Amino acid sequence: MEKYRNIFTSSFTDYGNYLWHEMLHPGWGNYFYWLLGISLVFWLLEVIVPWRQHQAKIRQDFWLDGFYMFFNFFLFSLVGFNAISTIGVQAFNDFLGFFGISNLVAFEVQSWPVWAQLLTLFIVRDFIQWNVHRLLHHSDFLWRFHKVHHSVQQMGFAAHLRFHWGETIVYRTLEYIPLAMIGFGIQDFFLVHIFATAIGHFNHSNIRVPLGPLRYLFNNPQMHIWHHAKHMPHRYGANYGISLSVWDYLFKTYYMPEDGRDIELGFEEVEKYPRSFAAQQLYPFTEGNTKAEANPVKATKELENA
Ligand SMILES: [Zn+2]
Ligand SMILES: [Zn+2]
Repeated sequence: MEKYRNIFTSSFTDYGNYLWHEMLHPGWGNYFYWLLGISLVFWLLEVIVPWRQHQAKIRQDFWLDGFYMFFNFFLFSLVGFNAISTIGVQAFNDFLGFFGISNLVAFEVQSWPVWAQLLTLFIVRDFIQWNVHRLLHHSDFLWRFHKVHHSVQQMGFAAHLRFHWGETIVYRTLEYIPLAMIGFGIQDFFLVHIFATAIGHFNHSNIRVPLGPLRYLFNNPQMHIWHHAKHMPHRYGANYGISLSVWDYLFKTYYMPEDGRDIELGFEEVEKYPRSFAAQQLYPFTEGNTKAEANPVKATKELENA
């Protein structure tokens, strides 16, 4: 237990020191300034060549989403995720140790050139995430958390990182084992993270960049806006692509009936959805928990007894 307690406390201080160091030392290998830089590029593009010209440059929820960006990229790790995930990984390895398993590696790619390893990680992780994203739409329980991302009513680059911290846990947990099974020889996936962040910003941004045939490979604003459409023909949505759009074409989950520039975004009764960060964080835990919905039998009995 002592071991886990030490991991827990040192994760906090290590991450706190790391974040503080990042903010004070701009450089090419620095997440903080890359996130800032990428955001600035897409915001400038939205100002110079907007897709929806009538949309304000500082759109609805711009600052809320700016905070989400900082929270989901950095603060959530600081307030606990880093510590909990380090412990989770340690506990999982200890658990495997009981069965005499010291590592999960099933595919050795260590001898490959770095670019090939990075490309493999990018493609494999994106495919896993496409599946997890589908799951977030298909499971009623997970959908409650994913609704935070879909509560965006006016689209812009910063909406990319509006999501509930519960999603981080779901994604990291579900992608851990498959990724651990690939024995990467590199520890630093900086380039993949930065590239995926840039595409995510791009998908949500209010710009129009015709990709030509590349649109069948890369996700883009004209496709992703339909993922956020308020009215969908299917209950579970479409266009689940994160960085790559190709999975939606391969598995026939794409939906782009026309130009989606001015479509209504959100979900049924999005107008009633909480608008503040704190309320959105709490809402998934209480939504639908009225007596009747949470336990119909008990609620009916209580009514009968009344
Ligand atoms: Zn979604
Ligand atoms: Zn989105």
